[in-house]
Amino acid sequence: MSLTKSELEQESGSCLAEQHVCENNELPEHLQVFRVSEVNGEPQAHWEIFSLWLATTEDVMVGEAEEQGELLNLSSIKIAFCPFCGDKLP
Ligand SMILES: [Zn+2]
Repeated sequence: MSLTKSELEQESGSCLAEQHVCENNELPEHLQVFRVSEVNGEPQAHWEIFSLWLATTEDVMVGEAEEQGELLNLSSIKIAFCPFCGDKLP
């Protein structure tokens, strides 16, 4: 189970445009690269890498989460190049 794009938009408060996907990313559910088109109503055109901390079965067992795949933490940073393949993001 992973977060959908619209769930990620809701959680991050951003509107997201296209996603950069590449095979070099070994944790595609946890590290997602998107072009951000809007933040708090302000138009944007930069890229960010989103780091999603999703609940594991162990997190559920110890009571940290209600279900597996639940978002426990989210952070993002602005990037110009893909950190996995080195491509310049358009
Ligand atoms: Zn890449």
